[in-house]
Amino acid sequence: MPEATHVIAGTCTTTFTGNRDRHQHGDVLVVVKPDGTTLVHDAAGYQPVAWLTRPEAVTVGDDAVTATDGDQRLRVDVHDAHVRGQYPTTDAGVPVAECPDCEGRLVRTRGTVSCPGCDRQYRLPTGATVTDDACDCGLPGIRVERGATFLLCLDRDCESLDERVRAAFDRAWDCLDCGEDLRVLRRGGLILGCDSYPDCETGYAFPDGVHDGTCTCGLPLFETESGRRCLDTHCEHADHSSADGSADASQGL
Ligand SMILES: [Zn+2]
Ligand SMILES: [Zn+2]
Ligand SMILES: [Zn+2]
Ligand SMILES: [Zn+2]
Repeated sequence: MPEATHVIAGTCTTTFTGNRDRHQHGDVLVVVKPDGTTLVHDAAGYQPVAWLTRPEAVTVGDDAVTATDGDQRLRVDVHDAHVRGQYPTTDAGVPVAECPDCEGRLVRTRGTVSCPGCDRQYRLPTGATVTDDACDCGLPGIRVERGATFLLCLDRDCESLDERVRAAFDRAWDCLDCGEDLRVLRRGGLILGCDSYPDCETGYAFPDGVHDGTCTCGLPLFETESGRRCLDTHCEHADHSSADGSADASQGL
């Protein structure tokens, strides 16, 4: 469920000590977010007059709010509170669909689709986009590239990405080191791992891209957002490999 944000509107004295010392007094709005980020807003502009982002420690008391982070310290003495309370807050995301369970809307935030109104939450596979095509279950669909383009339900329990990738690419390619089949496996993310494991430990993260041809080394090539690359990110046939750093993007979920 949503976590609480503290809000105090009132007459306060703000004392900041650290990389710059400031002392201010006025009728202000104090906000303490669930991650501890503390903001003091006055009447003008978008910028707080004092703040501390994700401090190590915060206390919200009747007379004062104190936030400390190393040698930075923000203290807000509350002399007279006009309004104070704790209110539920969530991440704000891009709305993608109505929630099938409640009156809320499903929103997309950093790799997750969730509903602020209930506990529904779905992790998106790396590189997935949410589509307009709804599944029969009522949830939106997603588009994922793992060797081919797969259109699936957002809910893994409704439609399994693993099963679809396995049906398409299990045993599709051979291990270069021992000749056995490469299997589609899940080890955190999806991988192509040698069938003779543990005798052969060859394995590769399944690329976030579409299979397109064969590398000089014998392994498959993939067309990804960052370029055409060999299944093996360390393949010496560099003309087919993309720039360094693409390996992280291939860690599919
Ligand atoms: Zn909901
Ligand atoms: Zn579904
Ligand atoms: Zn092998
Ligand atoms: Zn190669």
